[in-house]
Amino acid sequence: MRGGEPVVIEALRVRALPEGGYDHLLEFLRLYRDAVQMVVDRIWSINDRLSKRKLHRLFYNDLVSLGFRAHHTKEIYVYAESVVKSARSKNERKPTLRRLSARIDRYDYRLDLDSMTLTLKLHSDYEARLKLVASSERVEKFKSWSNYEMVVKCDGSGFWVSIYFKKAVKPLKPRTVMSIDLNFDNITIAVLTLDGKLLGLKRFKTPLRKVLTHRIWVERTQKRYPRSWRFIKGVKKAVDRHGEKIRNISWDYAHKVGDLVAELASKRSSIIALEDLDKLRENNKKGKRFNKRLGLWIYRRIQFCIEYEARERGIEVVKINPRGTSSKCPRCGKKLAENKHRILRCRKCGFVGDRDVTATINLYKKFISKHSRCGVSGVALNAPKPDENPSGMQGKRDDAMKTHLVI
Ligand SMILES: [Zn+2]
Repeated sequence: MRGGEPVVIEALRVRALPEGGYDHLLEFLRLYRDAVQMVVDRIWSINDRLSKRKLHRLFYNDLVSLGFRAHHTKEIYVYAESVVKSARSKNERKPTLRRLSARIDRYDYRLDLDSMTLTLKLHSDYEARLKLVASSERVEKFKSWSNYEMVVKCDGSGFWVSIYFKKAVKPLKPRTVMSIDLNFDNITIAVLTLDGKLLGLKRFKTPLRKVLTHRIWVERTQKRYPRSWRFIKGVKKAVDRHGEKIRNISWDYAHKVGDLVAELASKRSSIIALEDLDKLRENNKKGKRFNKRLGLWIYRRIQFCIEYEARERGIEVVKINPRGTSSKCPRCGKKLAENKHRILRCRKCGFVGDRDVTATINLYKKFISKHSRCGVSGVALNAPKPDENPSGMQGKRDDAMKTHLVI
């Protein structure tokens, strides 16, 4: 991680089939576990914090004499030290290692994603060759990343490897702000310049009504058979089927939205402003907008996907306390009243606006007022004060918004 450049890290976890050196691999994993245990035992009796250098002095020679390569030894004592540290912090007894698992430095393995093979350098100059079991689509994206460390494991079901990849991302210098309002029926996206000009609005329908239908079905069924639903085969199966529908619909949707939002933000060089869902409970206001029956998990999932896709593109995401964003007038700050379905009106200054769009504008203003005060780079000095109305908001509507009133 040179010079604080942001890095994205991801692990590829796959089953691996040994093609050669099966016995040696198993022997290596046992030897590795026993070596970690030996180091754990000795660190435990020392009862003092040990630097890397000291660990090296204490254990390097012994581990090499067992047949380990230089980088193996480092992985072993560093891992053992972390095991001891974690057990001590939890006031546990001295740990005993049972699982067969080894962390391997990038210098001790060779990965070929074209042929999906992995060659591990083991103790005493042995090697093991493993075939990775994964579709080529799944590994395709990692071809442009760099791999650095991996873990090989053996359990009752065979061998598994986790290979860690990283990719440096160039942070994008923000030129616009994309504020996003999530609610039960819609996701509303507004893109504004740093000095308050509205560049575009977009609205997507959410599939949450559909999700809720499945949820209600599950709840009703569980209520009808409060104790027995798990044990009646047909009922349990139907409950599981609806549960899976809920999971599929919501993940599918979250992935799509994440990708779409990040693409749009990347085109517009936006910094993304999301509502801080952790603050919602304190505010306890927005309950109606987020249907309580579904809970916050679905909104968190959507945000998770947005953040994930944004990070991969070097886009910054900030969370803003949503308090008041759906009830205050963006022009004068007074409380808004519902005029008609989804349309809010300010009795003081006459402002009329779509509820969701109003929320995105308020979110944007909160972002600007917070970040221009702290002097975050990239935010223009002439950003509007919180009480000013962002300019250029008249008549700029996106196709998706045609049926709605825009501020
Ligand atoms: Zn007003």
